[in-house]
Amino acid sequence: MNQQGHMASYGQPQPGYQAYQQFAYDNQHMTGVPPPQYGPYNGPVQGYQQTAVPQGPLRPPPGSAPPPTSIPPSTTAQQPVYNQYGQGDVHNGPAVPDQMQRLPVSQPYMPGNTIHSGSQPMPYQQYAPPLSHAQQLPNQMARMQISGVSTNSASPSVSQGYGTPASRPPAATSLPLAGPATYSTPLQNVPSSTPQDNSLPQHPFPGQTTPASTFTSPPTSIGLTGMNLPPSLGMQRPPMMHGPPLPGQPPSGPYPNQPNHRSMGPQPGMPGVIPGGPTQGFQMHPAPGQGFVPQQNGSFGQMRAPQPNYAAPGAAAASYSSQPQPQQKRLDPDSIPSPIQVIEDDKSNRGSEPFSTGVRGQVPPLVTTDFVVKDQGNASPRYIRCATYNLPCTSDMAKQCQVPLTAVIKPLGTLPADEAHPFIVDHGETGPIRCNRCKAYMCPYMQFIEGGRRFQCAFCSCVTEVLPHYFQHLDHTGKRMDYYDRPELSLGSYEFLATVDYCKNNKFPNPPAFIFMIDVSYNALKSGLVHLLCEELKSLLDFLPREGNAEESAIRVGFVTYNKVLHFYNVKSSLAQPQMMVVSDVADMFVPLLDGFLVNVIESRAVINSLLEQIPEMFADTRETETVFGPVIQAGLEALKAAECAGKLFIFHSTLPLAEAPGKLKNRDDKKLINTDKEKVLFQPQTSFYNNLAKECVAQGCCVDLFLFPNQYVDVATLGLVTYQTGGSIYKYTYFQAQADGERFLNDLHRDVRKVIGFDAVMRVRTSTGIRATDFFGSFYMSNTTDVELAALDCDKTITVEFKHDDKLNEESGAQIQCALLYTSCSGQRRLRIHNLSLNCCTQLADLYRNCETDTLINFFVKLAYRGILSNPTKTVRESLINQSAQILACYRKNCASPSSAGQLILPECMKLLPVYLNCVLKSDVLQPGADVSTDDRAYIRQLVASMDVSETNVFFYPRLLPVHKMDIDSDDFPVAIRCSEERLSKGGIYLLENGLNLFIWVGMNTQHDLIQSIFNVQSFGQIDSGMATLPQLDNPYSKKLRSMVDAIRAQRPRFMKLLLVKQEDKMEVLFKHFLMEDKSANGGASYVDFLCHMHKEIRQLLS
Ligand SMILES: [Zn+2]
Repeated sequence: MNQQGHMASYGQPQPGYQAYQQFAYDNQHMTGVPPPQYGPYNGPVQGYQQTAVPQGPLRPPPGSAPPPTSIPPSTTAQQPVYNQYGQGDVHNGPAVPDQMQRLPVSQPYMPGNTIHSGSQPMPYQQYAPPLSHAQQLPNQMARMQISGVSTNSASPSVSQGYGTPASRPPAATSLPLAGPATYSTPLQNVPSSTPQDNSLPQHPFPGQTTPASTFTSPPTSIGLTGMNLPPSLGMQRPPMMHGPPLPGQPPSGPYPNQPNHRSMGPQPGMPGVIPGGPTQGFQMHPAPGQGFVPQQNGSFGQMRAPQPNYAAPGAAAASYSSQPQPQQKRLDPDSIPSPIQVIEDDKSNRGSEPFSTGVRGQVPPLVTTDFVVKDQGNASPRYIRCATYNLPCTSDMAKQCQVPLTAVIKPLGTLPADEAHPFIVDHGETGPIRCNRCKAYMCPYMQFIEGGRRFQCAFCSCVTEVLPHYFQHLDHTGKRMDYYDRPELSLGSYEFLATVDYCKNNKFPNPPAFIFMIDVSYNALKSGLVHLLCEELKSLLDFLPREGNAEESAIRVGFVTYNKVLHFYNVKSSLAQPQMMVVSDVADMFVPLLDGFLVNVIESRAVINSLLEQIPEMFADTRETETVFGPVIQAGLEALKAAECAGKLFIFHSTLPLAEAPGKLKNRDDKKLINTDKEKVLFQPQTSFYNNLAKECVAQGCCVDLFLFPNQYVDVATLGLVTYQTGGSIYKYTYFQAQADGERFLNDLHRDVRKVIGFDAVMRVRTSTGIRATDFFGSFYMSNTTDVELAALDCDKTITVEFKHDDKLNEESGAQIQCALLYTSCSGQRRLRIHNLSLNCCTQLADLYRNCETDTLINFFVKLAYRGILSNPTKTVRESLINQSAQILACYRKNCASPSSAGQLILPECMKLLPVYLNCVLKSDVLQPGADVSTDDRAYIRQLVASMDVSETNVFFYPRLLPVHKMDIDSDDFPVAIRCSEERLSKGGIYLLENGLNLFIWVGMNTQHDLIQSIFNVQSFGQIDSGMATLPQLDNPYSKKLRSMVDAIRAQRPRFMKLLLVKQEDKMEVLFKHFLMEDKSANGGASYVDFLCHMHKEIRQLLS
């Protein structure tokens, strides 16, 4: 059940925002802050409601338009207050261009070959304009019926219902409206786009090993001559996966080799622990004739203890024992920073204690560490993460170090059950307390002065009068007496109930609607999609998002099916049977019915079920292969407009929309463009039609979720555009077959329908003087430089923000960020979600480098790069990333590290994984595609990554690889992961690899028969069914443990991962190897070792 926070009882601790759990209202108290105290204070105090509130235009800064609350409701009732939200506020000015030529998110990319709907030929008879009353429907339907007849000859035109479910033979007699004539057309000429044979599903990454020629090809471009390393270094890999099978496996105890560097060297993100700058760098330098040798703290050298999981005597360690002797000639992978080591160190150092947010500028534990957060005045890292928690005081410092000042914000992020969800504060009619000038919302950083009668804004320093109903005395420390009782004074994250001033047209919104729009063309039917979907919807509709403990969802639903015409359904509860209305004039889309289209699920249950029963039958024999797409979105948009509500379209679509209609596309895929200056065209939409449509959708609060089921190129870059700009989600099931892919699709659909979501949202990021938000990355639309407009925003979506200096910062006061999201909840409640974060500021770069978070930095870099390819050659984007990263590391070396020879590579402790992670980004399919990565896949990934949070990008670019044979069947813990490299795999092992989208189980050929039997229920390696997608359910601890691991991993990720079993040396192994990110990749991507050398060279060049 999707239960959301509810304000029914003021002052109660509100649960809410947990996507999958049904809450009781107990045990939701916060652990850190006295729980019951919110009760008495939060409600609107009766006596104050009539108080005349001084709300006039209160000293807005020059040039800034009055934001919503400054307008008294009574005097501005006519005024569309919503439209003024954020306009003209000078606080966050226009974006400053920087090194790579960036494209504003909302900028239309189109080369101007707009398709105007008016210019489309109209092959079908036009209808009269839509009628708006129920009584008129029969007329209308009669006309539609005629239309159907006009293009065909068969269909009778009178009956308006389908046959009853009990009598639904396929014959046209019982489905008079069903096959609206179109489908009873004799099919003598099946269109040329006859569905292709898709019985042989292909995979996105079939095996090929054509190396592309890019800078990353190691030997030539990485000049390590000064280090006595042979040019072929990194290529002389030992034979892979040698070494004996593991003895006596599977082990039953915890793996003996725990990471053993907990106390060695400074730890990332622990300000105060680290003594000083210079000593903390990871260092390595070449010993004479020996390549790199560990230095200083020895953390990464050969003297270091083995990597987690790699030292088992005689086990995996054997992998190295037989390395060829020229070993000293190459950089030892064990001597370079290990992601696993860093992850494990952080787990053991920071996973045991709760992370309290009370201290400014604290670096949180890594996203891979399991930890509990206590909100003590700053937003949880689950809502906001920063690349650095210590900002340079001046823009000169920022330029010098090149570390981007960025925050990754997930405003509606889901919290674990044991953490308090944001409380809802209701100030009654007066609305939230805000600064008079910059309109920042009341938060813990506001300073109350003059005995509590006024407060000084932490963002703009303006002093604002405290309204009488909000007045409270101060204690001896200057804190308000009600400090702990009010979330907005003591917590980093909370919500305000918005007043009508925050609503469009000064009217409280209607509850949102969900419209399911189903492609019923040939491919969708043949793959089993339509049948599967309709069957599932019957039960899924019970799980629509609900507000708090509401008994039923306020969300109304509607249904449309389409191929090259659209079919609307009247599912009004009073009908005995659903009614279909066909609109074949797709050039000028309208909604043929209003009453009965969007309905309450419970009331119309019987009619809806009947419809869902009939849809697959009605279209079972269709031969229609052509589809429209633009008109489908238009239809949904028009329906929401007519119902005066926001909402979401769930579009299930299978083909390139080739039918004559607005938004019609052509197949323009051209792989020859790869690695040319024109490659960017592949990521741009092929028509501006969808840009314009997206803009309209955003204005209405119409979010579009797109489920794609393509058998060939469908132009994801264009089809996905509206989804992208409306904050929607895109899913792609290539070569979908209900049998094989149904589980993944249905899981995704369930989660998508049920997840916490806010509609018709606007996000604004305010900052204290000295910095401002200059750039935004994610799935949204921006019509000005400050307001992120979101038709909808769900709990999985993040927005990455970049900040720039516009003045000096002050070490003492630090820097404050406030993110405010105005949105409509699933019940139609207008709310503001506020997140606050305060950061430190420094005059010494060493402080900055000590408080960085590489995972967040990478999240920013990848979003920057993936947007950059829209307007730059991919090669330029890659080089730009390398260059900026090299500057970051060179600046550290120059300013923070102790003097050392140029041959040493010195990395800041907090950034020692920057090279390896950066390399993963550079060799990703989007930036460096192999020959077999489709253009659609690249566009798809590009779109997915745009809204990923830090933990998602972390695992997506550097997958988690778990040795299954080392799992402890008595523990809930996962085995410690290993590094993503082929030479880390043991022939005698079984491994699980996941990256948030893909899930593999790899089986080594020498795996013990007992283990094979326990997991796969066959006797030997040879009998394992390669390509298997589900594990047999066996009643033994190994089978159970592995399956529970798979379940747990799936539950952690926003998308369901289909399992793919890969056997060693099987032809499918190449799919798996694609994800071994430390190795040289088939598409020409450098190995980690090679790339590190390359980075070293770049850094040395910058320093010399
Ligand atoms: Zn202010």
